[in-house]
Amino acid sequence: MSSDPLDPDAPSQPTPTPEVAVPEPSFTSQLDEQILRGLVVDEGALLRELGARGYPAAAVRARATHLGLTQQIVMRCRLAGSWPSMRACLACELRFLSLGVHHRLCKRCQPQR
Ligand SMILES: [Zn+2]
Repeated sequence: MSSDPLDPDAPSQPTPTPEVAVPEPSFTSQLDEQILRGLVVDEGALLRELGARGYPAAAVRARATHLGLTQQIVMRCRLAGSWPSMRACLACELRFLSLGVHHRLCKRCQPQR
């Protein structure tokens, strides 16, 4: 009826399954800059290059969205011939998506109108 705990045939403690390491692409700040610039300047070339380095296009786009890049920003930068980059806010030092050299305050610190 009841199983003998000392039964050598009893299944032993289940071996803990090792954490499955999901190969999550890591994004360095250098890579972030490359993505922000690449998506504005030459999206095809950027996605090809990063794809070859193991970053799927979906991950690259998700990263850009995470950084705050929108299609509107892409269009604005294309028209202006510039590209966005991550900068530290002059007031609070938060890293934020800056649209150009004139853009040094994060959204929170910009004077509200
Ligand atoms: Zn700020």
